[in-house]
Amino acid sequence: MKTTNLGYPRIGSKRELKRALEQYWSGKTDLESLLATAKIIRKENWLLQQEQGIDLIPSNDFSLYDQVLDLSTTLGCIPDRYTALANNPSFSDLDLYFAMARGIQQDGADITAMEMTKWFDTNYHYIVPEFTKNQVFNVSPDKIINEYKEALELGIKTKSVLIGPVSFLLLGKEKESGFHRIDLLERLLPAYEEILQQLVTIDAEHVQFDEPYLALNLSEKEQRAIHQTYSYFAAKFPSLKLTVANYFDCFGENIDTALALPVHTLHLDLVHCPLQLDDIIESNKLNSYTHLSLGVVDGRNIWKNEFEKSLKLIQKAIDHVGAERILIAPSCSLLHSPCDLDLETNEENLSGEIKQWLAFAKQKLEEVATLKKLVNKENLSDTLEKLKKNSEAQANKKTATLIHNQKVKQRVSALTAKDDQRESAFPTRQKLQKEALDLPLFPTTTIGSFPQTKEVRSWRANFKKGNLSADEYNVLLEKETKETIEFQERTGLDVLVHGEFERNDMVEYFGEQLSGFAFTSFGWVQSYGSRCVKPPIIYGDVSREAPMTVKWSAFAQSLTKKPVKGMLTGPVTILQWSFVRNDQPRSETCTQIALAIRDEVVDLEKAGLKVIQIDEPAIREGLPLRKEDWDAYLNWAIKAFRISASGVKDETQIHTHMCYSEFNDIISNIADMDADVITIECSRSQMELLDVFATFKYPNEIGPGVYDIHSPRVPERAEMVALMEKAAKQIPVEQLWINPDCGLKTRHWPETREALIEMVAAARECRQNS
Ligand code: GLN
Ligand code: ZN
Repeated sequence: MKTTNLGYPRIGSKRELKRALEQYWSGKTDLESLLATAKIIRKENWLLQQEQGIDLIPSNDFSLYDQVLDLSTTLGCIPDRYTALANNPSFSDLDLYFAMARGIQQDGADITAMEMTKWFDTNYHYIVPEFTKNQVFNVSPDKIINEYKEALELGIKTKSVLIGPVSFLLLGKEKESGFHRIDLLERLLPAYEEILQQLVTIDAEHVQFDEPYLALNLSEKEQRAIHQTYSYFAAKFPSLKLTVANYFDCFGENIDTALALPVHTLHLDLVHCPLQLDDIIESNKLNSYTHLSLGVVDGRNIWKNEFEKSLKLIQKAIDHVGAERILIAPSCSLLHSPCDLDLETNEENLSGEIKQWLAFAKQKLEEVATLKKLVNKENLSDTLEKLKKNSEAQANKKTATLIHNQKVKQRVSALTAKDDQRESAFPTRQKLQKEALDLPLFPTTTIGSFPQTKEVRSWRANFKKGNLSADEYNVLLEKETKETIEFQERTGLDVLVHGEFERNDMVEYFGEQLSGFAFTSFGWVQSYGSRCVKPPIIYGDVSREAPMTVKWSAFAQSLTKKPVKGMLTGPVTILQWSFVRNDQPRSETCTQIALAIRDEVVDLEKAGLKVIQIDEPAIREGLPLRKEDWDAYLNWAIKAFRISASGVKDETQIHTHMCYSEFNDIISNIADMDADVITIECSRSQMELLDVFATFKYPNEIGPGVYDIHSPRVPERAEMVALMEKAAKQIPVEQLWINPDCGLKTRHWPETREALIEMVAAARECRQNS
């Protein structure tokens, strides 16, 4: 029996790669020093994995930006718009690589970046490969070969990790019509063959192919493509030990395809799909030579493994195929885990009691190794002690008062059907709200945040460090809020916001004030490129101790007669952007958060706020990978939103906001949220996103964003009027609002002022024209 790993975080335990990248991009350091940092990280990662007891250690899991982009460049999948750059001797290969990732505006060159999108249901974003009908693949496998050799110099024979051909194609996009990207497989396989040939030449023994699309609903053609691929490789390279890795969910109907693959090892995610081990055993279809890599340690959440549970799974597999055909592994690449729990020494953030329940990447590898020792009965006294400690931690988690709050549990179980219903149906509410708010046709508003200037950031940082007293800090924020309200009044906006200057992040701000949340100091996870996020940890029952936002919203409302919109983050988004407990269903945790937000909504209403926005940008990204699981998720997620929104009077107007997302297949669920107003990101799609609202006859009010806040460009009045005219052709004007695409926190004041003045002027023009 062996231990193995699928991939290790590459950003560095203290985000060393982030810093090195950003210094290189800003011209402060040269390429050499960036590459030196990268090399140190790789070396440390390999040695650490060896030390933790991993037998089969990955290489080529490192990346300077993204592993999908790495493969695109390895395979010569470089979109035409970069050809000039590629042929220009003053740009290095790496300049080209970063230009593909980030776009480039330099020395006369002005080329847009490749598209970026979410990696399955994680918060990691990859660069989307672009394919043409006659796509040519030109292989340059240096990165893969060099990393293999680099590890070999340390005495480590690694397993090279590659995204499999079928997943690579499916991850990409066709850039012209007349073909499906899966049709490129015939051309792609010889390219992969070249890579494998070179690996064989340097005596490599193991290659891991990630085929996470095996967890999605594949068409028959795609299933055949999987079979064709691995039959091809197995026939060409009988000596190579090929692993096909699936993770994040079950094989589902792809199980027979997976079991029939002529490969050395099949990796299973037994954290997200423990039952598939039984399916495999019962089906009796596993090849007699195929090994099973058991992903028993959760690679994407931060909880300690439950050894007793894992041992049962491992034993079951051993009984069926024999220990020599078993590998123990994390469920997926540890890319999605923070690096090292040992760095968390700040008791105020993360108490020892909570830490005993956690494991980050480094600790997860130790868990994998300990599980192997327990099965092999190695170092018995030592490992049995670890087992005992592990079981104790699990046991006290079940009863810890830090986690369990009976009041919260009772409140959740006492919920009834009317708790997720507003008092009256929308038409009644709409009438009452019209009277209460007295808004014009095409009312204008913003999404919440105003520019977070350097000063605003420094106040928050200094307040946190204790360099500013609470009084000093409040005075500064009051001034900023007041100026923002005055600006909005002067400009003639209809529904104002306070500006969110007190908030660092739309989830952290709430997490810090809710019980049941903890924070780490170094729990960073790569989001894309050099960007990392530090999600809060929801460890216990969630409740609200005191109002969280009322002070700032009420203050802002006291400054103006116009309605101010209270600003909250919704339960699904808070859940989605945190590490979530695994000892109860996500739905339960989400409902608890919903009740806490509901209390806040009610308090805002009491404080005189007539409009309250509950942001839910993350609803769509919470969708499960397999379609058959969508309904169950949408049921509880939409219900959680409704619980949070339904504690107020009919007169109080509830808004929600969602960033750019496709609504096609979930429009009825969006309508079910029953927000009085929904604002969506729309300008980049030229209002096309509205089609589905129109076809569905979406009954409530909608604010389709009229300008893209991701760019400093000031939109022209005529442009916005034209967009709204387009919108008015689809949606009755009585239902339309005018607003930017999203919050303005990343913008600067000068362009924000100009843009909003133009937007209000555009609204006036729309009113005159209609
Ligand atoms: N209210 C938030 C803001 O304006 C919304 C951000 C978001 O949707 N991502 O910043
Ligand atoms: Zn947004």
